Amino acid sequence: LFLTNERHHLRVAVDAPQHSGLSGCLDYSSAQALEPGTLVSVPFGQRQVCGIVWRGEPQELGDIAIKPVSQVLYVLPALSERWCKLAQFAASYYQRSLGEMALSVLPPELRKLDNSQLENRLVRLHKNLAPLEVSTPITPPELNLEQATIVAQLDTLNITGTSSVVLLHGLTGSGKTEVYLRAAEQALAKGQQVLVLVPEINLTPQLEARFMERFSGGSTPRRIVSLHSGLSPAQRLKNWLTAHLGLADLVLGTRLAVFASMPRLGLIVVDEEHDPSYKQQEGARYSARDLAVYRGKLESACVLLGSATPSLESWHRANESRYVRLTLPTRVGGGALPKVRLIDMGVLPKVKGGDTSLTPPLVAALAQRIERSEQSLIFLNRRGYSPVLHCMACTWKSGCPYCSAWRVFHKLDRTLRCHHCGFAQPVPRACPDCGNPDIAAIGQGTERLEELLSAALPGARIARIDADSTQKKGALETQLASVHSGEVDILVGTQMVTKGHDFRRMTLVAAVNPDGALFSSDFRAPERLFAMLMQAAGRAGRSAEQAERSEMWIQTWFPKHPLYAALCEHDYNAFAASQLNERKIAGLPPFTHLGLLRAEAKTADAARAFLQTAAEILSQFPGADQLLVYPAVPTAVARVANIERMQMLIEGSSRVVLQRVLTSWMASLPALRRQHKGILRWALDVDPLAI
Ligand SMILES: [Zn+2]
Ligand SMILES: [Zn+2]
Repeated sequence: LFLTNERHHLRVAVDAPQHSGLSGCLDYSSAQALEPGTLVSVPFGQRQVCGIVWRGEPQELGDIAIKPVSQVLYVLPALSERWCKLAQFAASYYQRSLGEMALSVLPPELRKLDNSQLENRLVRLHKNLAPLEVSTPITPPELNLEQATIVAQLDTLNITGTSSVVLLHGLTGSGKTEVYLRAAEQALAKGQQVLVLVPEINLTPQLEARFMERFSGGSTPRRIVSLHSGLSPAQRLKNWLTAHLGLADLVLGTRLAVFASMPRLGLIVVDEEHDPSYKQQEGARYSARDLAVYRGKLESACVLLGSATPSLESWHRANESRYVRLTLPTRVGGGALPKVRLIDMGVLPKVKGGDTSLTPPLVAALAQRIERSEQSLIFLNRRGYSPVLHCMACTWKSGCPYCSAWRVFHKLDRTLRCHHCGFAQPVPRACPDCGNPDIAAIGQGTERLEELLSAALPGARIARIDADSTQKKGALETQLASVHSGEVDILVGTQMVTKGHDFRRMTLVAAVNPDGALFSSDFRAPERLFAMLMQAAGRAGRSAEQAERSEMWIQTWFPKHPLYAALCEHDYNAFAASQLNERKIAGLPPFTHLGLLRAEAKTADAARAFLQTAAEILSQFPGADQLLVYPAVPTAVARVANIERMQMLIEGSSRVVLQRVLTSWMASLPALRRQHKGILRWALDVDPLAI
């Protein structure tokens, strides 16, 4: 503390939204010198907002009176310089204001508390902290040779103390989690903290249980907390504080946990690193996977990216030796990947009524499994009964009046529901246009597939898992438990069922209608389809006795497609090589870098006009001649809830040039938006995942 009359000038990152036009820090004064990373409350316009004291010199102020800090949250230890650098990088890379970025990733409760409230929370936290109890250590499973080699290699990497990124390419069921556990053990033994990221909230309890079992007892018990959006605000704050104070040794969480404040961080694990849910899709559109890699560098921590089907970005970096690639090529415990069979829909006899998803050979294969008391999984990425209803007499189809999309027929509650805006109505008794009572369903969703299965296989025990069947809290867990206990013969589901679950009795996995993604306008669709099918295949043949007769069926009209050929061989490497080659020729990521400006307006013209003017502004910045700006086009579903959505892609071969131009551009867009009154929302997405 400086005990003079002099007031200290500080830089403060304040919680101001992007559109306020404030991108950096503001200056405030304080009676005491405050350490960077300290949380404060400051006046901002008419309001009091939360802020973080930031490193750096205040501007030359002359005689302008600057406002004093209102409150210092002194009971909370300051955020580390490394944490602040992570937030600063994320803000500048993803083109958000610094304060918005840094504060939006803190627990919301933290921003509401004053000193005495926070002090109470801290006292309670220390009092209620579960004691660490020494117990008989459990014996970890023996490693196979491949796992042992990798664990030894990780140990060597860790000892060198350099921040290294390891891409762990391991088949589904090859024992990646055991490698994570051993890597965590090494880091914990050095007194470091470990951060483990998973793509989905519903996968956290499973993983938490395994980490608890391994680390919460033994001779040196560890404290484990989770961080994800499913926690209550109070619980999230408590877990965040436990990590920030260094009381938690392990933090498990979803993408937001990449910003957990951890003073002794030594290892970051990103499980299923290819998963699209690591990309935040609103607000600051950051990639938790990419930030984990950057954070590893800042913290001199090892980053372990694991996947059976790595993202092509990570695979490419490993090809260039920027990441260390380690491979787990076989399944543990004698399991083997199922044999992939392509069922050529073109040569199957036409079925009456056109219900082609449930083909006679598939019904026979399912019946065979039931006879042997084995389980089957049928995968169809479309929920509801039927994606569209139509009138047999006129051209009426069940369109959504507010979106450029069909409303899906849900038979259970006899509604037509729009999956984009949520608009739902009872199914009409007759065609709204011509009065014809003969309205028919076109195509199949999971609900209809379930119904067809019951009819084709009377007595079969069928369960369906999708977003509709799992709305109630705990429903998913209950349904999964009944599959595990053998109460289900056939599981029908969307991609929800393909992730992470370890079904012991599963010997048949069938994808009944996967062709759509082969011809998508989104260049990442084949990569996603391949990953999804590999994941789905991974649900079968996980135990040695079933490995022999496990199969994955793909019903397709394009059996000669190279994607399916690679899938038949379980050959990710060949698939990745051919995709990367295509991307290189087409000038797509990871060989180029993308930014996507989206605009939403009442009319398509208004959205287009905004994007076109924005493109003209962009062309005037130095470096813009090295970028390619595509024309503004409607998004895949152009109209949602009566709002037209357009997007414009910006491509550059140099990430640095792209970043520089985007930064200048972003500074001028709030003013442009004010001139375009029709614009309701706009956003820039750096490294967009879905085009
Ligand atoms: Zn009609
Ligand atoms: Zn709609």
